[in-house]
Amino acid sequence: MNILVINAGSSSVKYQLYDMKTEFVLAKGRVERIGMDSSILTHEVDHQPEVREVSEILDHTTAIKKVLDMLTHRKFGVLRNIADIQAVGHRVVHGGETFSRSVLVDAQVKLEIRKLFDLAPLHNPAHMMGIAAVEANLPEVPQAVVFDTAFHQSMPASSFLYAIPTVLYRKHQIRRYGFHGTSHDYVSKKSAEFLGRPIETLKLITCHIGNGASCAAILHGKSFDTSMGMTPLEGLMMGTRSGDLDPAIVPFTINKEDLTLNEVNSMLNKHSGLLAISGVSSDMREVVDAMNEGNANAKLAFEMYAYRIRKYIGAYAAAMDGVDAIVFTAGVGENSAALRTEVCKSLSFLGVHLDETRNAGRSPEPRRITTEQSRVDVLVVPTNEELLIARDTYELVKGLEANTR
Ligand code: ADP
Repeated sequence: MNILVINAGSSSVKYQLYDMKTEFVLAKGRVERIGMDSSILTHEVDHQPEVREVSEILDHTTAIKKVLDMLTHRKFGVLRNIADIQAVGHRVVHGGETFSRSVLVDAQVKLEIRKLFDLAPLHNPAHMMGIAAVEANLPEVPQAVVFDTAFHQSMPASSFLYAIPTVLYRKHQIRRYGFHGTSHDYVSKKSAEFLGRPIETLKLITCHIGNGASCAAILHGKSFDTSMGMTPLEGLMMGTRSGDLDPAIVPFTINKEDLTLNEVNSMLNKHSGLLAISGVSSDMREVVDAMNEGNANAKLAFEMYAYRIRKYIGAYAAAMDGVDAIVFTAGVGENSAALRTEVCKSLSFLGVHLDETRNAGRSPEPRRITTEQSRVDVLVVPTNEELLIARDTYELVKGLEANTR
């Protein structure tokens, strides 16, 4: 079965085509600048040079059409016919309290995703455009939706409620949802596999550290707590997001700086984090380079960033009454040995002993970076959210076929 995984943004569509027999990525790419002038489609097939096509793509339906044309292209394609795509899986950021697992798309599911527009105004409407665009191009093909929030629906109320009047939760569903769930789910299962222990016996702390970043306490295979909240702004310091801060700063800044609410929102989401403190970049590579050249602000930003992660690890070890393994994943977590060293340097009270040679190594496979004597394992596990979306879609579509047989 071939499954097309789609991640639709407001002006972009990313795609990966999986052959589920081998879980091999047949082709992948992205369409950018949808609705602007000179949209760009970038398409990549294993071991072949990337193909770039610039054209006018005014909407998501045209973008998906272009992707399908490319997948069946005489020279650059990998399929004979679009009928060779048996299902489509979409990443959806917000599933609210409605979705605690992936589901097949039907009229009711679309209605529920629409109801969640308020909670994810930048993301869910774009995902809906992606779903509609696939429907327009592949009307007979089943579609599934996989939610970033679903994995965290297992959190107990003591983790997900804010200590504010509960009427706000009842009326407006103001609560913590958590994000990156697909990644935390994927790497926690991979870690259990790597450790050779049933996930039901493990206490894991997974650290997804990319442009966006979150930690999760995963108790016996279920999310028990996570650092992102109602929106992906809460928790760790990120590339451009502030993470945790005293909420009183918002009205205070509005008054002192004569800013609007939208301006403060934009400041906290787009002009804070690593970028604000380093004054250099939101990209960890550039911050580390600047630090190594003696830039004091870059050093402070790096240390703050790591310190926040360390605080969450300490908190989650306490929350679960222990921890068996700490797992690093995503762009920074997988690639920055310096960051992992900085985070782990005062975790010896937990029994963490990093092996610097192992930490400096690289591998596309899960690996341990602690010494044999370390009481707690620290692992680096590359994430693969697209593969998990493809797998969930595959399972749902197989179920559909079994029911109609
Ligand atoms: P997203 O959250 O957008 O999915 P990624 O998980 O791909 O992001 O992470 C992207 C970030 O990873 C980049 O902004 C960059 O800071 C960081 N990164 C990538 N490679 C390295 C590296 N070798 N060292 C440090 N940071 C890196």
